[in-house]
Amino acid sequence: MNGFAQEIDQILNDLERNHLKRGLRQSQTATGVEIDYLGKKVLNFSSNDYLGLASEPFLKEVAIQAIEKWGAGSGAARLVCGNLKIHEALEEATAHFKGAEAALSFSSGFAVPLGVIPALVGKGDTVIFDKLSHACLIDGAKLSGAKIRVFPHQNLSYLEKILKESSGKKLIVTESIFSMDGDLAPLREIILLKEKYGAWLMVDEAHATGVLGEKGAGLIELLGCRSQVEIQMGTFSKSLGSSGGYVAGSRRLIELFINRARSFIFSTAPSPASSAVSLAAIQWVQSKEGNQRRESLQKHILRFSAKLNQLSPTPLYTDHQSPIFPWIVGDENKALELSQRILQQGALTVAIRYPTVPRQKARLRISLSAKHTNEQMDCLKGMIQRAL
Ligand SMILES: *Cc1c(COP(=O)(O)O)cnc(C)c1O
Repeated sequence: MNGFAQEIDQILNDLERNHLKRGLRQSQTATGVEIDYLGKKVLNFSSNDYLGLASEPFLKEVAIQAIEKWGAGSGAARLVCGNLKIHEALEEATAHFKGAEAALSFSSGFAVPLGVIPALVGKGDTVIFDKLSHACLIDGAKLSGAKIRVFPHQNLSYLEKILKESSGKKLIVTESIFSMDGDLAPLREIILLKEKYGAWLMVDEAHATGVLGEKGAGLIELLGCRSQVEIQMGTFSKSLGSSGGYVAGSRRLIELFINRARSFIFSTAPSPASSAVSLAAIQWVQSKEGNQRRESLQKHILRFSAKLNQLSPTPLYTDHQSPIFPWIVGDENKALELSQRILQQGALTVAIRYPTVPRQKARLRISLSAKHTNEQMDCLKGMIQRAL
C-alpha cells in the first residue's frame, strides 16, 4: 500500500467535500476588463490590474525593447553576475517613488518577506501581525524562528497588549490596503504604538501602490508618514501591471538584505523585461496621465460603493477608498454558487474561500479597474441583484 498516494487522495477528496477544492481555469486572452474565460467573453471583475497597465501598449513595447537590449533572462543571481543596469535603475526609481533611501527588488512580492523578515528577527524576538495579513508575511515570520503573535483585525488595544507583553526586538507587520477586505490599516495609530513600545514597522503596500496617494505611492504617502515606517514592501505585479517585488528603507537596511535575505541571494535576478516594465510603470504612475487614471479609479470606487449600497439593507461601503469590494456570503458553497450565477450572466467575480480568507467568511472579491466603464459597473450591479 502506498501511504503517500492514499493520503493525497484523502486530502483532495476532503477539499472537494468541503467545497474548498481549487483548480486552474484558463483564459484564452491577455488580461483586461474583458477576457475570454472558459471559452466565453466575460467582464473581468477579479484582477488586481487596477489601472489596466498589464496590457498597456506602451509597456508591451518597453518589454520588447528590454529583451532586445538585455536578453530574455538575467543569467544568474544578482550577487553572482546577474546584476544588470536595469535592475539598479528600477531600484533607484522605486526608492525615489517610495521616499526611501534605497530599495531592493525581488522576483516576486511573495519572496520579499520570506527573505526580509528572517534577516531582521530571529529566536527571542517577536513578529506581530494583523490577523488578516497575507500568507507571505506569515510564512516569512515562521521562517524567521521569532515568536509570532496575532491581533484581531484592526484591534489596536489588542496590539498594545501584545507589545506590552513582548520582549526582544518587536516587528509589527501589516498590509496597508487589506487584500481580501479592501479596508485600510489604521497606520497612524499603529505608528504611535510602535514608537511608544520601541517596535519596528513593516508595511505591505501590494494593493495600495498605484492606487492611493498624490503620486500613487500608497497609503504611507497619503498619510505622510514615510519617515516613521522602517520597512516598506510591495509588488510590481498589481497596479503596476508587471511582476516582481520590492523592499524599501534605509541604505543600511538594504545592505543588510543584500547580505542576508535568502530569497534575494539564492534566486536568479528578475527578467530584464519585467524590471524594465516595472520601472516604466512607476514613472508613468507619477505622470499626469497616471494621475488622471488614478482619479478615474477613485471616481469608480465612489460610484460603485453607492451602487452596491443600494443592494444591501445597510450600507456596506461607507467612505470606501480601495478598488477591492468584498461581498461576504459566509458559506463556501453559497459563495461558489453566487459566483457561478454571475458568471452565467457574463461577469467574472471569483469566489474567495478558506484558506485565503477565514472559514465561513467566503466571499466574492469584486475588484475595479480604471478601465471599466460606468455601464460595465452598472451591469455587474444588475447581475448581482439577479443572482442574490
Ligand atoms: C499579491 C500579494 C503579495 C505577493 O506579490 P506577488 O508579486 O504576487 O508575489 C504580497 N502581499 C500582498 C498583500 C499581496 O496581495
